[in-house]
Amino acid sequence: MTSGLVGGFVADDTGEVAPMATMQAFRIAEWGEPPRFHDVPVPDPGPGQVLVRVAASGLCGADVRLVDGPPDPWSRVPFTLGHESTGRVAVLGAGVEHLAVGDGVVVSGVLFCGSCDRCVRGRQDECRTLVTAGSGAGDDGGLAEYLLAEVRHVVPLGTLDPVAAAPLADAGATAYHVVRGAVPLLAPGTTAVVVGMDAAGGFAVQYLRQFTGARIIALDPREARLADARRLGADDAFPADGDAAALVRELTGTGAEAVLDFVGSTSTLEISVGALGNGGRVHVAGAEGGMVPLGWERLPVNGGLVGSTGFTPGDLRQVIALAATGRLELLATAYPFHQVAECLDALREDSVAGAAVITLE
Ligand SMILES: [Zn+2]
Ligand SMILES: [Zn+2]
Repeated sequence: MTSGLVGGFVADDTGEVAPMATMQAFRIAEWGEPPRFHDVPVPDPGPGQVLVRVAASGLCGADVRLVDGPPDPWSRVPFTLGHESTGRVAVLGAGVEHLAVGDGVVVSGVLFCGSCDRCVRGRQDECRTLVTAGSGAGDDGGLAEYLLAEVRHVVPLGTLDPVAAAPLADAGATAYHVVRGAVPLLAPGTTAVVVGMDAAGGFAVQYLRQFTGARIIALDPREARLADARRLGADDAFPADGDAAALVRELTGTGAEAVLDFVGSTSTLEISVGALGNGGRVHVAGAEGGMVPLGWERLPVNGGLVGSTGFTPGDLRQVIALAATGRLELLATAYPFHQVAECLDALREDSVAGAAVITLE
């Protein structure tokens, strides 16, 4: 005999909780077919796993590429989209400690094994053993009522509200990882250039303002995004056009010590390499797949180019701690669960302010 629903679960009068049979999930079933809602079984957490009631799941350009682009060799179909997920713990698998039912959590979209040589050195973003692109990209993600996660991929949110914290799950953590890598180059008197002022670029400007004494120059083709950059702490904000690299060199005299490229197109990579000064590094975090000629005559003395994908669980814990201080602006545009397709359209049209977040509660 059932006595009621507990967070989407059916509890009987002995207190036993049994999963409901199915849930709604927004899935890519086959490459080339538009993603749509499917009824799928609610997963059952095994040992070391957690079932999370999803509160919010962000979408970004990576999802648009999965939906519109050619088949991604790292993402096996079918799978549920959503690699930027937050929620509350609904069911604990056997042996899970340090979490309780009801705890607010982020589920890392960057998956890692936890035991390879990279993982044990704290470089989970370099994990060499996994075969899919991640949760929401080959493995089932959070555009569903429930999300099954290995406990190592779950980070507690503490006092943060899961919906408000959703922009941290990708944009916030990805930008944090990039800035953490650039901070050693950015003593007072140096210059950091942020290319691309979508959600991740906005976080990067905030981190650079808080962690360094560097002059911050933001570049973006859109005037509204340049205004965001100034508000978030950029010292200068200019159009990302063919004059941008020369302008940075003119303003700094020598070029920038760090350029953080959150676009990664051919035109932004040209700007990024052109704006770089001696000893500087371009951190490429944007996935647009641009190409730029490189070589001895193109890179400044001791200059370099670093690829950046994802983040570590440590990054995620630190951005959550920073957000808990109230010192981060978590800019987002929210859409209800049934409007996932509208949200993808808004991303295609470039009309989303801050992070795009699907809310499920
Ligand atoms: Zn994303
Ligand atoms: Zn690993």
